[in-house]
Amino acid sequence: MNFADLGLSDQLLRAVNESGYTEPTAIQASAIPSVLMMRDLIGIAQTGTGKTASFVLPMIDILAEGRSRARMPRSLILEPTRELAAQVAENFEKYGKYHKLSMALLIGGVSMGDQLAALEKGVDVLIATPGRLMDLFNRGKIMLNGCSLLVIDEADRMLDMGFIPDIEEICTKLPANRQTLLFSATMPPVIKKLADKFLTNPKQIEV
Ligand code: AMP
Repeated sequence: MNFADLGLSDQLLRAVNESGYTEPTAIQASAIPSVLMMRDLIGIAQTGTGKTASFVLPMIDILAEGRSRARMPRSLILEPTRELAAQVAENFEKYGKYHKLSMALLIGGVSMGDQLAALEKGVDVLIATPGRLMDLFNRGKIMLNGCSLLVIDEADRMLDMGFIPDIEEICTKLPANRQTLLFSATMPPVIKKLADKFLTNPKQIEV
Protein backbone atom coordinates (compact mmCIF):
# COMPACT_ATOMS: atom_id res chain seq x y z
CA MET A 1 0.00 0.00 0.00
CA ASN A 2 1.20 3.42 -0.98
CA PHE A 3 0.20 6.89 0.26
CA ALA A 4 -0.71 7.78 -3.33
CA ASP A 5 -3.40 5.04 -3.33
CA LEU A 6 -5.36 6.55 -0.45
CA GLY A 7 -7.10 9.39 -2.30
CA LEU A 8 -5.16 12.28 -0.78
CA SER A 9 -4.37 15.46 -2.73
CA ASP A 10 -1.01 16.03 -4.42
CA GLN A 11 -0.14 18.86 -2.04
CA LEU A 12 -0.73 16.60 0.90
CA LEU A 13 1.30 13.78 -0.64
CA ARG A 14 4.13 16.25 -1.04
CA ALA A 15 4.01 17.21 2.64
CA VAL A 16 3.83 13.53 3.66
CA ASN A 17 6.78 12.72 1.43
CA GLU A 18 8.76 15.55 3.00
CA SER A 19 7.99 14.06 6.42
CA GLY A 20 10.07 11.10 5.26
CA TYR A 21 7.28 8.54 5.43
CA THR A 22 7.52 5.90 2.74
CA GLU A 23 4.33 3.97 3.35
CA PRO A 24 1.16 4.37 5.38
CA THR A 25 0.83 2.51 8.67
CA ALA A 26 -2.00 -0.04 9.03
CA ILE A 27 -4.42 2.42 10.61
CA GLN A 28 -3.62 5.09 8.00
CA ALA A 29 -4.23 2.64 5.14
CA SER A 30 -7.65 1.64 6.47
CA ALA A 31 -8.82 4.91 7.98
CA ILE A 32 -7.83 7.54 5.39
CA PRO A 33 -10.01 6.36 2.45
CA SER A 34 -13.08 5.94 4.63
CA VAL A 35 -12.63 9.32 6.35
CA LEU A 36 -12.31 10.92 2.89
CA MET A 37 -15.64 9.26 2.01
CA MET A 38 -17.10 11.10 5.01
CA ARG A 39 -17.80 7.98 7.06
CA ASP A 40 -17.88 7.91 10.82
CA LEU A 41 -15.03 5.90 12.28
CA ILE A 42 -14.03 4.07 15.44
CA GLY A 43 -10.27 3.54 15.52
CA ILE A 44 -9.02 1.19 18.21
CA ALA A 45 -5.35 2.07 18.26
CA GLN A 46 -2.58 2.99 20.65
CA THR A 47 -0.31 6.00 20.36
CA GLY A 48 2.65 5.09 18.15
CA THR A 49 0.54 3.46 15.43
CA GLY A 50 0.41 6.61 13.31
CA LYS A 51 -3.18 7.32 14.33
CA THR A 52 -2.72 11.09 14.41
CA ALA A 53 -1.95 11.28 10.70
CA SER A 54 -4.85 8.89 10.05
CA PHE A 55 -7.26 11.69 10.96
CA VAL A 56 -5.18 14.85 10.38
CA LEU A 57 -4.34 14.02 6.73
CA PRO A 58 -7.89 13.41 5.46
CA MET A 59 -9.19 16.31 7.56
CA ILE A 60 -6.83 18.70 5.79
CA ASP A 61 -8.16 17.65 2.39
CA ILE A 62 -11.79 17.73 3.50
CA LEU A 63 -11.37 21.22 4.98
CA ALA A 64 -9.40 22.51 2.00
CA GLU A 65 -12.16 21.43 -0.34
CA GLY A 66 -15.12 23.02 1.37
CA ARG A 67 -14.19 26.60 2.20
CA SER A 68 -16.88 28.56 3.96
CA ARG A 69 -17.13 32.30 4.18
CA ALA A 70 -18.56 32.14 7.67
CA ARG A 71 -16.04 32.63 10.43
CA MET A 72 -17.35 29.74 12.43
CA PRO A 73 -14.93 26.89 13.07
CA ARG A 74 -15.64 23.94 10.79
CA SER A 75 -14.01 21.15 12.73
CA LEU A 76 -13.09 20.21 16.28
CA ILE A 77 -10.47 17.83 17.63
CA LEU A 78 -10.77 16.97 21.32
CA GLU A 79 -7.68 15.78 23.19
CA PRO A 80 -7.43 14.78 26.86
CA THR A 81 -4.23 16.71 27.64
CA ARG A 82 -2.54 19.95 26.66
CA GLU A 83 0.51 18.05 25.47
CA LEU A 84 -1.48 15.84 23.11
CA ALA A 85 -3.42 18.84 21.81
CA ALA A 86 -0.15 20.67 21.12
CA GLN A 87 1.25 17.62 19.29
CA VAL A 88 -1.82 17.40 17.07
CA ALA A 89 -1.46 21.11 16.30
CA GLU A 90 2.17 20.50 15.27
CA ASN A 91 1.01 17.67 13.01
CA PHE A 92 -1.54 19.97 11.42
CA GLU A 93 1.15 22.52 10.69
CA LYS A 94 3.56 19.94 9.30
CA TYR A 95 1.14 18.15 6.98
CA GLY A 96 -0.86 21.28 6.18
CA LYS A 97 2.09 23.41 5.11
CA TYR A 98 0.83 23.64 1.50
CA HIS A 99 -2.71 24.46 2.55
CA LYS A 100 -3.96 27.69 3.98
CA LEU A 101 -5.95 26.37 6.88
CA SER A 102 -6.15 28.20 10.16
CA MET A 103 -6.39 26.66 13.58
CA ALA A 104 -6.75 27.58 17.21
CA LEU A 105 -5.19 25.58 20.03
CA LEU A 106 -7.55 25.89 22.98
CA ILE A 107 -5.86 24.50 26.06
CA GLY A 108 -5.79 25.43 29.72
CA GLY A 109 -2.85 26.78 31.64
CA VAL A 110 -2.23 29.63 29.21
CA SER A 111 -3.97 32.99 28.95
CA MET A 112 -7.04 33.21 26.77
CA GLY A 113 -5.87 36.31 24.91
CA ASP A 114 -4.27 34.66 21.88
CA GLN A 115 -6.99 32.02 21.74
CA LEU A 116 -9.69 34.71 21.68
CA ALA A 117 -7.83 36.65 18.98
CA ALA A 118 -7.60 33.50 16.81
CA LEU A 119 -11.31 32.79 17.30
CA GLU A 120 -12.14 36.36 16.42
CA LYS A 121 -10.32 36.07 13.08
CA GLY A 122 -12.06 32.81 12.27
CA VAL A 123 -10.52 29.33 12.14
CA ASP A 124 -10.99 26.10 10.24
CA VAL A 125 -9.92 23.76 13.05
CA LEU A 126 -10.23 23.91 16.81
CA ILE A 127 -7.84 21.65 18.70
CA ALA A 128 -8.95 21.66 22.29
CA THR A 129 -9.02 20.08 25.69
CA PRO A 130 -12.61 19.72 26.97
CA GLY A 131 -12.22 22.03 30.00
CA ARG A 132 -10.95 25.08 28.10
CA LEU A 133 -13.39 24.51 25.27
CA MET A 134 -16.38 24.44 27.66
CA ASP A 135 -15.05 27.50 29.44
CA LEU A 136 -14.82 29.50 26.19
CA PHE A 137 -18.18 28.18 25.03
CA ASN A 138 -19.88 29.15 28.28
CA ARG A 139 -18.46 32.66 27.94
CA GLY A 140 -20.07 32.90 24.52
CA LYS A 141 -16.74 33.03 22.69
CA ILE A 142 -17.17 30.03 20.40
CA MET A 143 -19.84 28.93 17.97
CA LEU A 144 -19.85 25.16 17.62
CA ASN A 145 -22.80 24.80 15.28
CA GLY A 146 -20.57 24.99 12.20
CA CYS A 147 -18.36 22.09 13.32
CA SER A 148 -19.43 19.33 10.99
CA LEU A 149 -16.33 17.24 11.61
CA LEU A 150 -15.50 16.05 15.12
CA VAL A 151 -12.57 13.95 16.37
CA ILE A 152 -12.65 12.48 19.88
CA ASP A 153 -9.10 11.28 20.40
CA GLU A 154 -7.85 9.05 23.23
CA ALA A 155 -11.41 8.42 24.41
CA ASP A 156 -10.35 5.98 27.13
CA ARG A 157 -8.03 8.59 28.62
CA MET A 158 -10.87 11.10 28.47
CA LEU A 159 -12.82 8.61 30.58
CA ASP A 160 -9.98 8.21 33.11
CA MET A 161 -9.79 11.98 33.43
CA GLY A 162 -13.53 12.43 34.01
CA PHE A 163 -14.21 14.24 30.71
CA ILE A 164 -17.08 12.10 29.41
CA PRO A 165 -19.89 14.42 30.68
CA ASP A 166 -18.12 17.38 29.00
CA ILE A 167 -17.77 15.44 25.77
CA GLU A 168 -21.43 14.47 25.80
CA GLU A 169 -22.36 18.11 26.30
CA ILE A 170 -20.01 19.26 23.54
CA CYS A 171 -21.51 16.68 21.15
CA THR A 172 -24.98 18.11 21.69
CA LYS A 173 -23.74 21.59 20.65
CA LEU A 174 -22.44 20.36 17.29
CA PRO A 175 -24.65 19.84 14.25
CA ALA A 176 -26.35 16.43 14.34
CA ASN A 177 -25.49 15.97 10.69
CA ARG A 178 -21.73 15.73 11.08
CA GLN A 179 -18.86 13.29 10.63
CA THR A 180 -17.45 11.90 13.87
CA LEU A 181 -14.20 10.00 14.38
CA LEU A 182 -13.45 8.35 17.71
CA PHE A 183 -10.08 6.89 18.67
CA SER A 184 -9.35 4.85 21.76
CA ALA A 185 -6.70 2.33 22.81
CA THR A 186 -9.36 0.23 24.53
CA MET A 187 -13.16 0.03 24.32
CA PRO A 188 -14.60 0.00 27.83
CA PRO A 189 -18.45 -0.10 27.99
CA VAL A 190 -18.76 3.66 28.66
CA ILE A 191 -16.85 4.46 25.47
CA LYS A 192 -18.85 1.92 23.49
CA LYS A 193 -22.02 3.64 24.76
CA LEU A 194 -20.64 7.06 23.81
CA ALA A 195 -19.88 5.79 20.31
CA ASP A 196 -23.35 4.24 19.96
CA LYS A 197 -24.91 7.54 20.97
CA PHE A 198 -22.86 9.97 18.90
CA LEU A 199 -21.61 8.08 15.84
CA THR A 200 -23.65 6.95 12.85
CA ASN A 201 -22.94 3.62 11.19
CA PRO A 202 -19.20 3.88 11.96
CA LYS A 203 -16.53 1.83 10.29
CA GLN A 204 -14.51 0.10 13.00
CA ILE A 205 -10.79 -0.43 12.63
CA GLU A 206 -8.61 -2.22 15.14
CA VAL A 207 -4.83 -2.28 14.82
P1 AMP B 1 1.11 8.64 16.48
O1 AMP B 1 0.67 7.22 16.68
O2 AMP B 1 0.16 9.43 15.66
O3 AMP B 1 1.46 9.29 17.78
O4 AMP B 1 2.47 8.60 15.60
C1 AMP B 1 3.63 7.98 16.08
C2 AMP B 1 4.87 8.41 15.30
O5 AMP B 1 4.91 7.80 14.02
C3 AMP B 1 5.00 9.89 15.07
O6 AMP B 1 6.29 10.28 15.45
C4 AMP B 1 4.81 10.08 13.60
O7 AMP B 1 5.59 11.14 13.09
C5 AMP B 1 5.26 8.76 13.02
N1 AMP B 1 4.55 8.36 11.78
C6 AMP B 1 3.24 8.56 11.50
N2 AMP B 1 2.92 8.03 10.31
C7 AMP B 1 4.04 7.44 9.82
C8 AMP B 1 4.35 6.70 8.62
N3 AMP B 1 3.43 6.45 7.71
N4 AMP B 1 5.61 6.25 8.47
C9 AMP B 1 6.54 6.49 9.43
N5 AMP B 1 6.33 7.16 10.57
C10 AMP B 1 5.09 7.64 10.77
